[in-house]
Amino acid sequence: KYIVELEQVTKEYDLGATKVRALGGIDLTFEKGEFSVVMGPSGSGKSTLLNIVSGLDRATSGKVRVVDVDTSASDDGALSRLRLEKIGFVFQAYNLIPVLTAVENVEYVMLLQGRPPAERWKRAKEMLEAVGLGGLHDRFPRELSGGQQQRVAIARAIAAEPVLVLADEPTANLDSKTAASLMDLMETLNREKGITFIFSTHDPSIVARARRKLTLHDGLLLETEVAGKVDTDA
Ligand code: ADP
Ligand code: ADP
Repeated sequence: KYIVELEQVTKEYDLGATKVRALGGIDLTFEKGEFSVVMGPSGSGKSTLLNIVSGLDRATSGKVRVVDVDTSASDDGALSRLRLEKIGFVFQAYNLIPVLTAVENVEYVMLLQGRPPAERWKRAKEMLEAVGLGGLHDRFPRELSGGQQQRVAIARAIAAEPVLVLADEPTANLDSKTAASLMDLMETLNREKGITFIFSTHDPSIVARARRKLTLHDGLLLETEVAGKVDTDA
């Protein structure tokens, strides 16, 4: 029933002389089909939390289960496979591959999955249309604005129809109209395909559309609000 389960998860960054405690013991679950947001001031641990859920980073202690895989006990190969098959992610640094065009970047995850070329191509083009980049398939990342690159990253994350999408401030560089249309797209995928979405954001327009709102403060979970039950102003 849970797609993500965190049990007493801590994360410390070792800076030689000092340690930074980025997460201080998080107990948290996400159900399949959630459309949830993690809020909190800069430095509160949002990126760290999403990195650990995505398997891009490891907890210092505690247990992490993601899509039925105990990622805290998995090796790097198992984490890569889990990401490739089940998870889409959109992070602040878009991580587009500079030598590939927009459409090739979107195809890339499907290529790694071994999908046939015609299917990859068709789907990558559809996803670029969906994020409003229909005419820009053949541009390289450096030929696109920050917001356009972010949209390519979003298209790449959702193209392979993952069961879980993690997005760290996905609309940070977008104008409000583009941000709203991307949220529409993600809501549709959530509703129609049951894809679970977890966002981190400061953007009130994303917060307003989330069905569950979590707040981190200094690496601790402050509160959980479910739409309609609690004041949304954390
Ligand atoms: P947020 O996403 O909410 O801004 P982060 O998860 O990026 O928060 O950071 C949480 C804390 O961990 C901050 O104090 C930050 O400085 C620290 N931190 C994050 N990444 C690293 C890192 N790679 N090395 C050292 N400290 C880090
Ligand atoms: P790595 O082993 O460094 O993850 P990959 O070859 O698997 O490298 O992926 C290369 C790039 O493709 C990554 O930097 C990442 O940005 C992107 N990528 C891979 N898998 C996904 C995914 N599931 N969702 C979004 N982007 C992905």
